[in-house]
Amino acid sequence: MPGFELFGDDERKEVNEVLESGILMRYGFDAARKGRWKAKELEAAICKELKVNHAQVVSSGTAALTTALASLGIGAGDEVIMPVFTFVASFEAVLSVGASPVLTDVDETLTLDPQAVEEAITPNTRCIMPVHMCGGMADMDALKSIASKYNLPILEDACQAIGASFKGNYLGTIGNAGALSFDFVKTITCGEGGAVITNNKSIADSCDAFSDHGHDHLGKDRGADLHPFLGYNFRISELHAAVGLAQLRKLKTFVTMQRERKAILKESIGNIRGISFRKLPDPAGDNAAFLTFFLPNEKAARETTKAIQAAGLSAFYWFDNNWHYIRKWNHLKAGQSLYGLHADQLSQLQKLNERNFTQSDSILSRTISMPVSLSWSIDNTREKAQKLSETLSSMAGVLV
Ligand SMILES: *Cc1c(COP(=O)(O)O)cnc(C)c1O
Repeated sequence: MPGFELFGDDERKEVNEVLESGILMRYGFDAARKGRWKAKELEAAICKELKVNHAQVVSSGTAALTTALASLGIGAGDEVIMPVFTFVASFEAVLSVGASPVLTDVDETLTLDPQAVEEAITPNTRCIMPVHMCGGMADMDALKSIASKYNLPILEDACQAIGASFKGNYLGTIGNAGALSFDFVKTITCGEGGAVITNNKSIADSCDAFSDHGHDHLGKDRGADLHPFLGYNFRISELHAAVGLAQLRKLKTFVTMQRERKAILKESIGNIRGISFRKLPDPAGDNAAFLTFFLPNEKAARETTKAIQAAGLSAFYWFDNNWHYIRKWNHLKAGQSLYGLHADQLSQLQKLNERNFTQSDSILSRTISMPVSLSWSIDNTREKAQKLSETLSSMAGVLV
């Protein structure tokens, strides 16, 4: 999984170039920077690699989501449909622009259930935000047809799925805008960083200004820039961008390595009774950061998670996770905020206490994910696969 596992000379070389110039900021200081523009270079490299027209690199994935939402014009009184299985950043971004997250069931893709999305639409809905969890993808055809029926934009949270694709298009480039994260545990990392990607020039221009205090970036003199609208500081530093540049060059290699290793793990348990796999709307596009499978019931999943961990392997049981699943988001359900939330937001959050997410519960309580590591050799992976298959075979009693 994380790109930090393969960190080395390439990253050091890029960072050293920034240190030599001494210009750590992405804008200005044209003469002193000796032609080094790492953030700009990273943006161009993302566009080329992901076949998308525009990329705005920012300080985190959370900042990318916030910037994208603002640039789509989403704010007070607006509702954003997002899944109950994601990372807290997805709803933080929605709340930060003054909008309300409308938490919606997932299906066996572990991403938004298109039918639940359609049921969640109200006159206040302004955006559909699928989250491509654990390297896999939402059913973008189904979501796109709902979005066009109701004339809603799609913002893809592709923070966990860089390099993954759906029917030949990279995740994050299919909706109106997409967000990527390069935080320390993502497929590629630059310590902290993120990007908004889009094929829409006007959204891209808004992202460019919004992420730098609303500066229009039209003139040569930063001090003379005009401010067409309010913004924030979500800039990335040149040091971070430099690391991102070195990591992005290895993205294809990382994804290929993950796919090879995941295939070995998956193959080893494919025939075990009681195990089924996460549904991938386009299996060939998976970035393979995780092997995710379902057990017959919650008890089997809990016992199997323990057994896998006892065998010295890594296993995530998302149903109990504080960061990723709604069941433990008590601060959100209580609307606990340091600053006053809008009345619309509070009433939307209040509703979460009365709602059941029976469908998502019944799926997540049976789900186990194993992270696929870039640090495993192929032999190593085979040994792990053997261990996994022995562990699951020994659980035959609960796997019915
Ligand atoms: C990591 C992540 C984010 C936020 O990224 P940061 O760079 O950590 O701010 C958003 N959404 C999802 C699904 C993530 O996994």
